[in-house]
Amino acid sequence: SKQHERKPEWLKIKLETGDNFKEIKNMMRSRTLHTVCEEARCPNLHECWANRTATFMILGDICTRACRFCAVKTGRPTELDLQEPGRVAEAAEQMNLQHCVITSVARDDLEDGGASVFAATIREVREKLPLCSIEVLIPDFMGNEDALRTVLEAKPAVLNHNVETVERLSDTVRAKAKYDRTMNLLARSKQIAPTIPTKSSIMVGVGEEWDEILKTMDDLRKVDCNIMTIGQYLQPGHKYLKVHKYYTPEEFKLLKEEGMKRGFSHVESGPLVRSSYHAHEQVKAANET
Ligand code: SF4
Ligand code: SF4
Repeated sequence: SKQHERKPEWLKIKLETGDNFKEIKNMMRSRTLHTVCEEARCPNLHECWANRTATFMILGDICTRACRFCAVKTGRPTELDLQEPGRVAEAAEQMNLQHCVITSVARDDLEDGGASVFAATIREVREKLPLCSIEVLIPDFMGNEDALRTVLEAKPAVLNHNVETVERLSDTVRAKAKYDRTMNLLARSKQIAPTIPTKSSIMVGVGEEWDEILKTMDDLRKVDCNIMTIGQYLQPGHKYLKVHKYYTPEEFKLLKEEGMKRGFSHVESGPLVRSSYHAHEQVKAANET
């Protein structure tokens, strides 16, 4: 497509298809597990898996929401799979993960939004891999504080919840989420579990202004968010939100500097940066401050 032809040089990537990749892929299939690494065709897959970092998507692959940047299927999710936490733990053990990210679709159909399954998955992974740092990237649970508490009680190493974009574009980019609800969730996480670092990500290139990105950083720091990641939005297909701008590597570097000035313990910013990219280093930085 035209979109692809216009893609700058620094975004051209090679998809990993080596033996190691196939072996892990087969292992995921045999356990009917989903990783974001594979499903999102993440450009960092080879590097991440080699560094023993992976992102599991639990609670099925059908989302109750339909954000305009996201390629995950929308619909009515299937029933709960209570064996899933155990299978994630086995896969994490087989990959001998150092850093494990657990995320999910939005399950607005469940009373706790799937929080208890997040908690069970954290516990099972920890039991199998006591030294693995476990990060959760959670949905907003519709603002349900008990659900958030359930996840925090399982003591993840990082509580991650994405703001995704600047305030003005929030309604367009992710209709069922709310900028304020995201900030509230991050604030509340710190009230409930002050020692657990929080993290949030935005993707740039959906029509935001530079100053609006800085304002989002300020808002995140106001709720004491510790880690921020910034990456380039890439359109997953023609029916999705258009790319308004490709930021240069220099601009990403500037954004990182702006973030560090504001007191984040770690800012990961670059064209191919995804929420869990270099996640292991991010946790280290957060725990050192
Ligand atoms: Fe997987 Fe995240 Fe790494 Fe991409 S950045 S390969 S989704 S762990
Ligand atoms: Fe995608 Fe998450 Fe939005 Fe669902 S809630 S459509 S998984 S970004």
